[in-house]
Amino acid sequence: MSDAIDIAANLATIRARIAEAAIRANRDPAAVTLVAVSKTHPAESVLTALAAGQTVFGENRVQEAQAKFPDLRASHPALRLHIIGGLQTNKARDAVAVADVIESVDRPKLAAAIAAAMAREDRRPDCLVQVNTGDETQKSGVSRDEADAFIRAAREEHGLPVAGLMCIPPAEGDPRPHFAYLRNLADRHGLAVVSMGMSGDFEAAIAEGATHVRVGTAIFGRR
Ligand SMILES: *Cc1c(COP(=O)(O)O)cnc(C)c1O
Repeated sequence: MSDAIDIAANLATIRARIAEAAIRANRDPAAVTLVAVSKTHPAESVLTALAAGQTVFGENRVQEAQAKFPDLRASHPALRLHIIGGLQTNKARDAVAVADVIESVDRPKLAAAIAAAMAREDRRPDCLVQVNTGDETQKSGVSRDEADAFIRAAREEHGLPVAGLMCIPPAEGDPRPHFAYLRNLADRHGLAVVSMGMSGDFEAAIAEGATHVRVGTAIFGRR
């Protein structure tokens, strides 16, 4: 079938493009982690990617992650799961139980719920603060104006293990100023992890300092 999705070949292509983008930016290709976004795709697709050496995955719904990943984790201990979608407070405990990284911490109530869940679950996944760099009303993420205060509160008041920042720039327009803004904000807070860039713009994100790129469609095909 000419339109069959070859996940292993797609992964090889994306890895090569990541390495080229890193080298063009005078960066170490090993400093960029590929998060393979498997949302809506079945566990079999994740298994194919695991067989091709991919270990880091992203899901945006906690329920879907719970349905797919515990079994995969049992057979693949190296697997790392990132929750990348907007989180409701009542899903915080499930997110803490299933994830290795929560990329979508964006408000005080959620930060408090995650902190409480960490205590109950005795598990401390790394947290990223999601910043709504375009200040778009429909999008999750803390606004630019509130980002500094929220990053400090997440770490100091809520005691979360904040490792870095995440953003999804507006669909229209040049994403690069958004990527540059996020990298700069992370640097000012001494945060090492910057998760930005998707199928359509991960090379630009790497040029601006992304440490994690979240790629779905270009690996697993259309949703
Ligand atoms: C779905 C999703 C991605 C992947 O997007 P693609 O365009 O399919 O690569 C990345 N980040 C987040 C937060 C997503 O929800």
